[in-house]
Amino acid sequence: MNAVPQTLDELRRRSTLLSAPLLGALCLAGAWVIPSLPARTWETSFFTVSGMLFLVAGVVAWRRPQATSKVANVMMLLLATIIEVRLLSIFNGPIFADNDTSLFMLLFAHMPMCYLFCYMIFPSQQALRWCGAICMIFSGTTLAYLLPALVETPDREGARHLLVWTCISSPAFVLLISNLYRFEHVVLRLNTEHDAVSARQELYKHQATHDYLTGLLNRLSFDTELDVIWRQAEHRQQPVALLMIDVDHFKHLNDQHGHRAGDLALQQLSVILSQQVRDRDIVTRYGGEEFAVLLSNTHLSAALRLGERLRAAVANSQLNTDQGRLKCTISVGVACIQPEPGVNQDLLVTEADRALYIAKRRGRNIVVSNHRELNREPQLVAATSNAKQA
Ligand code: GH3
Ligand code: MG
Ligand code: MG
Repeated sequence: MNAVPQTLDELRRRSTLLSAPLLGALCLAGAWVIPSLPARTWETSFFTVSGMLFLVAGVVAWRRPQATSKVANVMMLLLATIIEVRLLSIFNGPIFADNDTSLFMLLFAHMPMCYLFCYMIFPSQQALRWCGAICMIFSGTTLAYLLPALVETPDREGARHLLVWTCISSPAFVLLISNLYRFEHVVLRLNTEHDAVSARQELYKHQATHDYLTGLLNRLSFDTELDVIWRQAEHRQQPVALLMIDVDHFKHLNDQHGHRAGDLALQQLSVILSQQVRDRDIVTRYGGEEFAVLLSNTHLSAALRLGERLRAAVANSQLNTDQGRLKCTISVGVACIQPEPGVNQDLLVTEADRALYIAKRRGRNIVVSNHRELNREPQLVAATSNAKQA
């Protein structure tokens, strides 16, 4: 868990997890203290049950983070009920005897704690509205009980203190809450703006690294990925393979069926290619009607097999376009190099390009590899029926 909460939801969750056991412990302590206070007999059970409910709420918030908000609402209602019950119980009991002054002061000195708990449970605009409402209810209830009592017997010391405290504390709490409200408003706005900026950043990043038409990684990503894979291969002494793929006679397809059909064909070709490769292989649109597939830690034999699989998959597919179902083929140039001092990734691209060029010269719809590797592994020519040595 991060030391600093990154989102308001996380902050709310942590506050709830902190408040639940605290409030639970306070209620259970209250149940223990109540018998020594002017209280109703049922209050002990009421406080015990409330304490248990807070503890259960804490467990639920801990086990089911997505329910935090609901749990916090329930805790808030329970807290408000407890405070109100205690107040009513005190007001209806022998509270205005001067020797109970300390009890009033104890209770009302703890009112700020109640507000802070509310705020901790709900660090949100909604919570602050609740806090404001509860503050008003407390003040209203207090005044409603105090004023008639004071009119009746004006010399009650404790009641006078309580009246002064209520008159001072209520506006102070309302002020505090409205400030928190404004502060939270700013935080929420900044949070929303930050989310929007992050989303835009993600979009721009996606647009910069992906091809708009096919959704594949683009040429920029190809260069980046090749760089990473090459350095990894250098470090681990592993071969890197590259399949350079070009659609055969694509200009003819465009001329005959239109560019829209050409675009649809490219989109479907990208899906066919992506479906044939392993998860770790990287399919990119290298440019125009050319695709490149990067294979890390792959030997020439495996690269040739994949090339052949791709070629066959495209040759056996029909592409749906607005001009009907079309067939097309691809030529594949395969290069495989194990990085060594003095050799860089440009050579891999050059050799795959050269193999592709030869595939075109040899009649298209075939897979051709760079002969550096084939010379080292001559048995592969026989193993791959459609592969022809460059
Ligand atoms: P070859 O078998 O020798 O590769 O012949 P080709 O016709 O495929 O080769 P050429 O390079 O002459 O033509 C490639 C065509 O691909 C030309 C271009 O208009 C088309 N092309 C490139 N990008 C797109 C695209 O995004 N959409 C469409 N519809 N066509 C494209
Ligand atoms: Mg081309
Ligand atoms: Mg072509």
